[in-house]
Amino acid sequence: MKILVVNAGSSSLKYQLIDMETEAVLAKGGCERIGIAGSVLKAKGNGKEKVYEQGMPNHKVAIELVLSALTDGEIGVIKSMDEIGAVGHRIVASGEYFKKTTLVTPEVLKTLEEKTFELAPLHNPAAATGLRACIEVMPNTPMALVFDSSFHQTMPEKAYLFGIKYEDYKEYGVRKYGAHGTSHKFVSQEAAKYLGKKPEELKIVTCHLGNGSSISAVDGGKCVDTSMGFTPLAGVLMGTRSGDIDASAVEFLARKKGLSHADMVTYLNKQCGVAGISGVSSDFRDLIAGAESGNERCALALDMFAYQTKKFVGAYAAAMGGLDCIVFTAGIGENTPTVREGVCKGLEFLGVKFDKKANAAKNNGAIREISAKDSKVKVLVIPTNEELVIARETAELL
Ligand code: ADP
Repeated sequence: MKILVVNAGSSSLKYQLIDMETEAVLAKGGCERIGIAGSVLKAKGNGKEKVYEQGMPNHKVAIELVLSALTDGEIGVIKSMDEIGAVGHRIVASGEYFKKTTLVTPEVLKTLEEKTFELAPLHNPAAATGLRACIEVMPNTPMALVFDSSFHQTMPEKAYLFGIKYEDYKEYGVRKYGAHGTSHKFVSQEAAKYLGKKPEELKIVTCHLGNGSSISAVDGGKCVDTSMGFTPLAGVLMGTRSGDIDASAVEFLARKKGLSHADMVTYLNKQCGVAGISGVSSDFRDLIAGAESGNERCALALDMFAYQTKKFVGAYAAAMGGLDCIVFTAGIGENTPTVREGVCKGLEFLGVKFDKKANAAKNNGAIREISAKDSKVKVLVIPTNEELVIARETAELL
C-alpha cells in the first residue's frame, strides 16, 4: 500500500508518498505561500525535481496540484490517485480528546475543530484546513489523524499534572501533553533495534533538539515523562521560545513591558530562547560561528542550552531509576557536536563515557554511536523520520 503523509501549515503543505512494503519514499515535496502571491510547489519524484509556480489560492488547489505532480508524466510515481491507500495527517495537539491515531469520520472532524483548535491555535486549524481539502479532493480515500502528542499518552498522572487545583485540570484539561511524539517514538525504537534489545529492556532519554526542542524519558518502550508541556513553550530554552519560566515572572514582565496576555505569550514564543539570549540568531550555526569569533552572548546561549538539556537527562535518569541510552536527534541533535558534548560532559557519574572523536565525525545520515565501546550508557545520534512514523501508524490503523 502507498500512503500519502501530509503536514499542513497555514500557508504551507508538505507531503511524502511512502510505499509501505519497502518503506521507501517514492515522492516528496512542499507547497509554499498558499493563499498569498508567489505560491510555489517544489516536487521530487523519479529522481527528478520540478518547480510548479502556480497560483494556489487555498489548500484545495494545493492538494490538487500535489496530486498532479504525483501523477505527472515526468516526475510522477503513480498512474492515478486511486493508488493512494490512505492519507496520514500530522496533527500537533490532541488534548485529551484523542489518545491515539484516529480514522477521520465526520464526528472526529467535528471534535478536532471544536475542541482542539484553542490548544494549538497556530497549528491545528491549519492542519484541519489541509485535511478538509484532502477530503474534498479524495472523498473515497481513508484519512488518519496522527498526533504529535500520542506517544506521550502513557505518562502517569504524577508526571503530566501541574501543581494547580485538580478541579481546574479536570474542567479545562490544563496538563502536560508534550510534543514531537512521533520523533521520540521513532528514535527510541531505532535505538532498541540498533542495540539489539527489545524496547521493554531499555531506559532511554531521547533528545529531540531542533528549532523546537524536547526531551523524553522512555522506559520499557513507553514515554513516562517529557519536557514540553501544555504547549510546546515549555522545557529547555529553544530557538526563540523561552522554555520553562516562573509564572510570576511572566506576569511581572508583562506589567513592566505593558504587554497583554496574548502579546506576552507571543513574546515568550518568538523573541526569547537562544535568539533572545544571544541577540544574534535562533540558528545554532550562527551561534556557533558567533561563539567561535568571541561573542560571549552566543557562547552563553549555547551553554544554557546544553546545561538545561543535561538537567533533563539527569532528572529522567532519576525518574526511571536508571539509564541505558541517550539519543540525540533533529537538526541540532544530528548536526551539532558541541551541543552533544556539552550535554554529555559531566555525566560520567551516570555511566556515560563519551567518545569525542566519534562525536566530531560528520553526519552521514546513518545511526552513529558517540560513546566509548565500554560506556555503560550508550550515546547515539539517530536521524529522525516523523513522516515514516505517520505512514506506519496510518497503515497499522487500516
Ligand atoms: P524544526 O524544529 O524547524 O524542524 P530542525 O530540526 O530543522 O528544526 O532544526 C533546526 C536547527 O538545527 C537550527 O538551529 C539549525 O542551526 C540546526 N541545524 C540544522 N542543520 C544543521 C547543520 N547541518 N549543522 C548545524 N546545525 C544545523
